[in-house]
Formats: sequence, structure tokens, C-alpha cells
Amino acid sequence: MRHRIAVVGSGPGGLTFARVLHRHEYPVTILERDPASDARPPGGMLDLHEGLGQLALDKAGLLAEFQAVSRPEGQAMRILDTAGTVLRDWRPRPDDRANPEIDRGQLRDLLLGPLDVQWGRGVTQVVPGPRGGVLVHFADGRRETFDLVVGADGAWSRTRPAVSPVTPHYTGITTVETSLDDVDTRHPDLARLVGDGSMAVYGVNRKLVAQRNSGGHVKVYAQFRAPLDWHSNLDLADAEAVRSSLLTLFDGWAAPVLDLLRHGTAFVHRPLYVLPVSHTWTHVPGVTLLGDAAHLMPPLGAGANLAMLEGAELAESIATGAGDLDVAVRAFEERMWARAGKWAKITTAGLERLVSADPAEALAVFDQVQPS
Ligand SMILES: Cc1cc2nc3c(=O)[nH]c(=O)nc-3n(C[C@H](O)[C@H](O)[C@H](O)COP(=O)(O)OP(=O)(O)OC[C@H]3O[C@@H](n4cnc5c(N)ncnc54)[C@H](O)[C@@H]3O)c2cc1C
Repeated sequence: MRHRIAVVGSGPGGLTFARVLHRHEYPVTILERDPASDARPPGGMLDLHEGLGQLALDKAGLLAEFQAVSRPEGQAMRILDTAGTVLRDWRPRPDDRANPEIDRGQLRDLLLGPLDVQWGRGVTQVVPGPRGGVLVHFADGRRETFDLVVGADGAWSRTRPAVSPVTPHYTGITTVETSLDDVDTRHPDLARLVGDGSMAVYGVNRKLVAQRNSGGHVKVYAQFRAPLDWHSNLDLADAEAVRSSLLTLFDGWAAPVLDLLRHGTAFVHRPLYVLPVSHTWTHVPGVTLLGDAAHLMPPLGAGANLAMLEGAELAESIATGAGDLDVAVRAFEERMWARAGKWAKITTAGLERLVSADPAEALAVFDQVQPS
């Protein structure tokens, strides 16, 4: 029996869910608020782990295509102290495929493939009916009923209230993101400083990370502890004012490191919010969540990986199951909660140590997780 299934959101989680169902020739409605796939800049890089994101791509039949476009050399990681001294300079072996990097835009295009996304369909509310059937309300006033609605609509999910009253809270750590283009020709010194992968500098309660994307693009993340309203006297739309404020905040750091901020173009403020560690809910027939909507956690390389594997696993169990949708969803939720809870603990503790009063903590984290 084919159920009417909708997924809200076409991020990594929603698209993987839809792509695996599509592989099994199981119909799914993909509802996305953005008016088009390229309506927003896709963002930086994602490293996809062998046992998580890559496993999900395998279930979608896309692993070979991923291997063709991803960048194993992007796993390289260099750590400097604030004086600019290189403390660690780790490079992957040529055959290392544990966590290759891929541009988010490339991943999105890979997953989109033949999928038919309904763009510009912002969901405002999801209401489970008393006798089965879930009513989805749209921003344009329309409504539609499905047997199962999967909320893959990210941190500020509009599906989540149907199952849980919990909302994300601020971690006390914020990020300002900037980027540089054509680094190899326009900023060769910075290109060398960043290397093939990522470069991180850890100071007291702040860090600066630069990450090479494809096409000579570098993303720079300045992360620091601050109250949510730290910018109340700053116009965040004024790039020069934000640059100057960051240069003051990172004052005293080595000049080549600060050049990453001096040459950055636009600045985007992203305060870090999280859901409580081990967020669960009482099962509601006809509605579930996956990815950030279910377990928003610090951005330490797990969120997209988990969202994708959850999407793949749920789709697989629906498409290959005996037909009892509710049994499949309940089993999926139990598995997701256990795995995501574990990662939420790891990433929460990791963030505390990476943006800490003692920069040596960050180095200790690196030495623990990175095989030398
Ligand atoms: C700086 C940074 C770096 C990161 N690096 C990594 C990394 O290397 N590896 C990793 O695994 N994770 C990483 N993450 C985390 C990762 O980005 C997220 O965990 C991941 O994107 C979550 O995927 P998702 O599909 O659950 O949600 P999202 O990617 O947030 O997608 C949600 C989708 O839902 C749509 N949507 C939202 N509301 C509605 C609505 N009401 N109606 C319809 N559509 C809606 C949105 O437009 C969007 O397309 C990083 C995060 C940040 C901020």
C-alpha cells in the first residue's frame, strides 16, 4: 500500500529521505519554502563521514557520484596559535576517504537529481487529525492532507510544534562568517596559510577557522562567547563596521591570521542555537522529525551527516516495510533519538572545549579525535 507522504524542507535530510524513496519508486511530496534551489547562497563545505553521510548516499545510490566530486584533500587540518605558530599540520593519506569535503551546493544538486520539489511552499502549521490524516497549512492559505508528514525543516521547524513544545536556546557562543574569492590568485599568502583543508586558531573564549571550498573560495568563521545582543551598538549590515569590531575583538593575533578578516567580503552573523541534548517526544501518529528539526546541535561536523542517514533509514524502512507506517516511524524515532543523543553530547562538550578560557583544551580535542 502506498501512503501519502510529505517531507517539509529540502535540506540534506529532506532531500536524502526523498531520494531514497524515489530510488524505491515510492512517491513523496517535497515541500520547500525557498522559491528556487538557488534562491539563497548554499553555504560552505560539509564533511561526510563514512558511517553516516556516505552510508546515506550509498542507500540513495549516489556514493560513486559523491566520490567523483568530493575533496578528500579537504580533510587536511592545520592549527596555529594566536602568534601564528603552526602547532599541528595534519594531512590525510592519498587514499583516505573517511570524511571528504563537498560544497553544499554540489551536494544539493547531487541529491536533487530527478526529484520534483514544490518550491515556494512555506509550511506554517502541521495538525494531526483525530482519525488519521495530517493537515498541512501553507503560507498562501492552502491546506493539504497526508498520511505522514516528515519535518526536515531545520532549526526553526514549523513541523516540530505538532510533536514537541521545545524550542532552540542560545549557546552563549556566536559566529560571524565571511569569505574570500579567488584566493590562489588574489591572496596567495592566505591560500598557503589555509592549505588544502581547514585552518583553526584558538584564543581565549574565541576562535577563527578558515576553510577552503572548491573554486578558490575560502569561508572564514570568527566564533566567540558573547551575549546575544553583543552587536546592539553595531550595524550588522555595515561590513566595515563589523570588520572593525572583529579586528578589535581579535586584537593582538598574528597579522596573517587577521588578514582573513581584513580581506573578507560580506559578514553574516550566526548565533549558535541548540535544542536540549537528547530531545525526544511522545510519538504522534502521522508526524515525525529528522535532522536539525529534531536535534539541532553545535556545528561540529555531525548535523548534516545525521540528517542524511536518518532520511535514508526512514525512507528505506517505509519503502521496504510490510506497510504499517506507524510501526516504521516509531522504530525510526527510537533509533534516531539514541544516536542523535550521543552526538549531541559529543558536540556540546566539544563546543565548550573549542571556545574556552583555555586554548590548550582545543588542542587536546584535536589530538583526541584526529589520528596522527
Ligand atoms: C557553519 C556550519 C558548518 C557546518 N558544518 C557541518 C559539517 O561539516 N558536517 C555536518 O554534518 N554538519 C555541518 N553543519 C550542520 C548542518 O549544516 C546541519 O545540521 C544540516 O544542514 C541540517 O540539515 P537538515 O536537512 O536537517 O536542515 P536544513 O539544512 O536546515 O534544511 C532545512 C530546509 O527546510 C526549509 N524550510 C524551513 N522552514 C520551512 C517551512 N516552514 N516550510 C518549508 N520549508 C522550510 C529550509 O529552507 C531548508 O531548505 C554545519 C552547520 C554550520 C552552521
